[in-house]
Amino acid sequence: MELTRLRGFRDLIGADARAMSLVEERARAIFDRYSIKEIRIPVLERTQLYSRSSGETSDVVEKQMYTFTDRDEGETAVALRPEGTPGVVRAYVEAGLDRTDPEQRLFYSGPMFRRERPQKGRYRQFYQFGVEIFGRPDAASDAELLIMIDELCRDLKLPFTMEVNSIGDQKCRPAFREALVQWGRAHWDELDDDCHNRIDRNPLRLLDCKRDAKVTESAPKSLDYLCDECRAHFDTVKELVTAANVQYVVNPRMVRGLDYYTRTAFEVMAGGLGAQSTVVAGGRYDGLVETMGGAAVAGIGFAIGVDRMALAVEAAGKTQPKKPAVVIVPLGKTMTPQANVVAQEFRSAGLDTELFSPERKLKALLGRASKIGTEFVVIIGEDENARGVVQLRDLKQSGQQAVTVQEAIESVKNSPNK
Ligand code: ATP
Ligand code: MG
Repeated sequence: MELTRLRGFRDLIGADARAMSLVEERARAIFDRYSIKEIRIPVLERTQLYSRSSGETSDVVEKQMYTFTDRDEGETAVALRPEGTPGVVRAYVEAGLDRTDPEQRLFYSGPMFRRERPQKGRYRQFYQFGVEIFGRPDAASDAELLIMIDELCRDLKLPFTMEVNSIGDQKCRPAFREALVQWGRAHWDELDDDCHNRIDRNPLRLLDCKRDAKVTESAPKSLDYLCDECRAHFDTVKELVTAANVQYVVNPRMVRGLDYYTRTAFEVMAGGLGAQSTVVAGGRYDGLVETMGGAAVAGIGFAIGVDRMALAVEAAGKTQPKKPAVVIVPLGKTMTPQANVVAQEFRSAGLDTELFSPERKLKALLGRASKIGTEFVVIIGEDENARGVVQLRDLKQSGQQAVTVQEAIESVKNSPNK
């Protein structure tokens, strides 16, 4: 086949798509319960939006963005969104909310695009479900998000670990940054080229040097550099989360690759994913709204990597293959109108129902019913119709009996395997 999909882009069919939807449905339900409102933002934005917010030296902006020049008059440089936060902040400021109604709790979802090396759990188009809370500088909002994420992971029945850290703020981070630069220079020979580049450009990312995790063991830790305010904030977050019975570990080496984060950073890893195990990542970004031209409003948020979360849900064996509870077989075209009526009755009773073609042989249709895993077949023929009944066939027991539609619905409903 010539017109195949692009590398790193996926088609999700059946069970795989369903696992993604399951994650999205559960996330949406929980966010609703936390009174978080939806925001929908464009997939295409000005390239500058991302360089301004994420910082020129982030991996995303440096090498991963899909950009092109639009053919409009101004030849605008545009980019497919690599993440949701900058667009949400732009929309928030553009709507004037930073001045009129700064406290906002918003969630977004949809595809993101990053041109990175594809592998399991890492794609060029992937999906995020994210939350941004504006106007809440207090530690209670950090804790609330961690509690909510814990609830979602438990709801999805995932084996998971939550890691938290604090990376300080504009006041205390410069000293930590400088200590990392010094450390990087002193350990030059142990670092690879990628990390040599980070020393001056983005020293926090030195802690992400993945080639040999041991190297960073001697690196300075952000927690040792926190100012009193940042330390008190972090202590309160930990106390509140502990009081809510949420399990977490402090990972003093966790940093964020994007420049706008301050104070609390957190990640959730799930089992069964191999190297790409981070399914949720987020943190506080108190300076971002102002950087983007808005008022000085605090922010905190996170994004769920829906693709990875879905893989974890599948690995944990928590998805059931979708199959109809019943299929309706009209014996001949003249029975199709009645078959439609019967199918609607089953659906109204809350049963997943598939209507088969009237133009194939009964034997072939029964074969197909077994193949798609349904247990019951309802056959509608001329004689039965005249008598006001249908034939209900139980594929597991190979029995068949003439019953009313209501009786058939009850039998299917009461079956343990439907
Ligand atoms: P990583 O270190 O894995 O590259 P990141 O720091 O780039 O992650 P974020 O920008 O924080 O990731 O995005 C939040 C989440 O989105 C990640 O934890 C992950 O679950 C998911 N994610 C990020 N990039 C991809 C991708 N290319 N494919 C699939 N999921 C992704
Ligand atoms: Mg990345």
